[in-house]
Amino acid sequence: MDFRFSEEQEFFRNQVRDAVDRLVRPRIAEIDRRAEFPRDLWDEFAGLGYFGLRHPAAHGGLDADTVTSMIFFEELARGSCGFFMAVTVQMLMGTYFVGRFGSPAIRQRVLEPAIRGEKIGAICFTESQSGSDLAGVRTTAVRDGDGWVLHGTKEWITNGPICDFATVLATTDPKAGLKGLSFFLVEDGTPGFARGQKIEKLGARGSVTGEVVLDHVRVPAENLLGEPGKGVTYVTDILNQVRVMTGLAACSIADEALRDAKDYAKRREAFGKPISEYQLIREKFGRCWAKREAARTLLYRVAWMIDAGLECQREAMAAKWVATEMCLEAVDEATRIYAGNGFTPEYPAERFFRDARFLLSGGGTHEVLLDYLGRTYLRQ
Ligand SMILES: Cc1cc2nc3c(=O)[nH]c(=O)nc-3n(C[C@H](O)[C@H](O)[C@H](O)COP(=O)(O)OP(=O)(O)OC[C@H]3O[C@@H](n4cnc5c(N)ncnc54)[C@H](O)[C@@H]3O)c2cc1C
Repeated sequence: MDFRFSEEQEFFRNQVRDAVDRLVRPRIAEIDRRAEFPRDLWDEFAGLGYFGLRHPAAHGGLDADTVTSMIFFEELARGSCGFFMAVTVQMLMGTYFVGRFGSPAIRQRVLEPAIRGEKIGAICFTESQSGSDLAGVRTTAVRDGDGWVLHGTKEWITNGPICDFATVLATTDPKAGLKGLSFFLVEDGTPGFARGQKIEKLGARGSVTGEVVLDHVRVPAENLLGEPGKGVTYVTDILNQVRVMTGLAACSIADEALRDAKDYAKRREAFGKPISEYQLIREKFGRCWAKREAARTLLYRVAWMIDAGLECQREAMAAKWVATEMCLEAVDEATRIYAGNGFTPEYPAERFFRDARFLLSGGGTHEVLLDYLGRTYLRQ
């Protein structure tokens, strides 16, 4: 066993950290306040070439392994949470199906500009009546001559209001439930495709989230991504990565919140000494740091399992859950350390508190994850 990152990976981490420090971190508070997608930052950041980390070099990608990609996500999450969401959707779910199943023409027209940051992607599962339970998807795709006609409305779509293309989950066989779901590529400009207004969000406010409307949108046959009815199987393949990525974002948010709270605890005095000298305050740092170390170790182990081609669905779910719960605890403790000052945007503690909530839904809600883990445990 060797738990160390390679020299190349450490070098890569420093490179990404430097870019995030330089380009993203100075703008965290402004991005959160404006609650708008920072297109200029997107363009500048895209120029560094990281958007193609998970894609083949033949299409302008970097062919990086999972561990290396996760290093990138962990460092990016030290910056703006909203920007992180916009970028990670682009790099994982937003382009995964196009990269894996797209024809050479689609890859050239959609994937390559997405890797360069010129086109923005979205992934559309959720509908008003269907979130965790994908069997509730009502968007239909009906075969029509040499193409498909899609009809339905997707909600809560990250990058939805600004996307140039979307990967849409629709049912090609409503009677088959989960086994009737399929993925389609829909590009902006196709008649009937409309991007909705952004919705106001509690946190991750630099990403824009909203509806994507498909009003009898006709797409060519090649826009069916993969085989009909296999949609859910394909989701499982990418979800492990999404869960590790989300878990590492939890570690970074917790880390940043604790570091900020540490500085505050050393400055702030009560009853004649800095509050950092009280045992009950020290305990918060000790407990959260210990849990963060455990979560992070588990997450990188799962990333390693993905690279090794090992089955790791349960481990990925467990790691995402452990990390997110740890993060929610850490950001809560940080606001307690700030006490009254944790209740105002003048200090960052409340932003960490808000941002961390986004971790709860990405990659599966905790109720759904734990129910699955419990069921499989009992079956063993
Ligand atoms: C910031 C943000 C960005 C998002 N971006 C996207 C995106 O880009 N694309 C996209 O498609 N979606 C996106 N979503 C939607 C997200 O995927 C859903 O919120 C998530 O799937 C949960 O669905 P839901 O909100 O409808 O909750 P529901 O599924 O309705 O769940 C409601 C509650 O019931 C619980 N529950 C559900 N099923 C069970 C069960 N079997 N056992 C026990 N409890 C259960 C849940 O845990 C939860 O507590 C985004 C959401 C947020 C907050």
